[in-house]
Amino acid sequence: MFRLSAVRLSHFLPSACLLVSGLAAAYVRDLSVFFTSLFNVLPTLVLLLGGAYCAVYRRQRELFLMLTVYIAYFLLDTQTDFYRDNGRVREDAAVVFHLVCLLLPLMFALYGAWQERTHLFQDMVARFAVLLAVGSVALGLEQSFPQALLGWLAEIRWPSLHGQWMSLIQLAYPVFLCAFILLVVQYLRQPRPLHAAQLIGLIGLFWMLPKTFILPFTLNIMCSQVMLMIAAAVSHEAYQMAFRDELTGLPGRRALNERMQRLGRNYVLAMTDVDHFKKFNDTHGHDVGDQVLRLVASKLSKVTGGGRAYRYGGEEFAVVFAGKSIEECMPHLEAVREVIANYNIQLRNQDNRPQDDQQGRQRRGSPAASSVSVTISIGVSERLADHRSPDEVLKSADQALYSAKGAGRNCVVAFGVQAQRGAVRMA
Ligand code: GH3
Ligand code: MG
Ligand code: MG
Repeated sequence: MFRLSAVRLSHFLPSACLLVSGLAAAYVRDLSVFFTSLFNVLPTLVLLLGGAYCAVYRRQRELFLMLTVYIAYFLLDTQTDFYRDNGRVREDAAVVFHLVCLLLPLMFALYGAWQERTHLFQDMVARFAVLLAVGSVALGLEQSFPQALLGWLAEIRWPSLHGQWMSLIQLAYPVFLCAFILLVVQYLRQPRPLHAAQLIGLIGLFWMLPKTFILPFTLNIMCSQVMLMIAAAVSHEAYQMAFRDELTGLPGRRALNERMQRLGRNYVLAMTDVDHFKKFNDTHGHDVGDQVLRLVASKLSKVTGGGRAYRYGGEEFAVVFAGKSIEECMPHLEAVREVIANYNIQLRNQDNRPQDDQQGRQRRGSPAASSVSVTISIGVSERLADHRSPDEVLKSADQALYSAKGAGRNCVVAFGVQAQRGAVRMA
């Protein structure tokens, strides 16, 4: 249910930086005129830019999250402006503030957890309808029964659970808590930058609300930061889609092409290919094939000696060693080849699955447990006087790989060595 192995600190990093910078900015007193003017227009600016960005990428969920935050900002900003100008709060300040404290986490969690459907137009209409319905009911109640609504919102329902530190209405805390749990579960089930940004964003909103009337510009700053978190997550995911291979999690061919443009004078490229993989697929099925590709990728990603692995395509991977000579890289490639060859892969095939834990434990130790192993062949080449461009080096690594296959597979062959001294099989 939870994919803990896919949890990454990098999912949280941009949002956490925005949160920390937002907190720091909110505590700055005596802002210059420049920053005062900037913070006044920032939320609207971020909504316009971020909204346009989400629209281009057809990300409705994020668009509605931003809208929710912006509406809350707009309602509260009207109140804080009045407070700043007149030195007292508006008549409806309490009821508006409490309503926002209740509805903001509710709507944020709702839109955050509402997965996008394939039919974009229907999806947008449904989201808009919910926003309209909640907004008009809240407005209707606020206009018709302000006192009754205020009483209902501010009521302390659970006196034993009420702490002095609680500066929001009591009802807001369970709503924030439920929203937080929902978003944590969503992130653990599907660890991705957007889900991490939603979580950090909710924390930012939770911190912001009690400070709304106390710290000037807290509202403007934190609402802008939360919308920026969402926009940053959209671009993070767009980057991942373009540059990461989904199956293995390694950077893909496009990332390799980009890296090859920035290689210095000395570098080594290795092409690796899984041996007899077609036969493997035919025997065990495509799912098991995919499982093996993930494993090979994970081992290659841990190659020592400063190598960086990329999925070139299919069952072929490239490894780039920048600033290295071929002699320096060979032992590291040899080591990773050996690690993969010696690794017994336990098949997670449904048909082979043990009925219970005990059976599984017994089977794991026994030779009958269904495990397989694969080998890889590696061709290596470095930048030389007669082939200078990365494309040429890659081509010669491919030729060396061809030689490795010819030399019986499960070995590392360096380009040029074969021509001079016959095939050097390092296996
Ligand atoms: P050789 O030792 O000569 O490399 O033999 P091979 O069978 O590995 O060679 P070939 O390149 O002909 O086979 C590659 C196979 O890899 C074909 C395809 O079925 C399989 N393949 C490519 N991409 C994927 C993938 O994403 N998932 C799975 N499961 N199989 C893939
Ligand atoms: Mg191949
Ligand atoms: Mg192959």
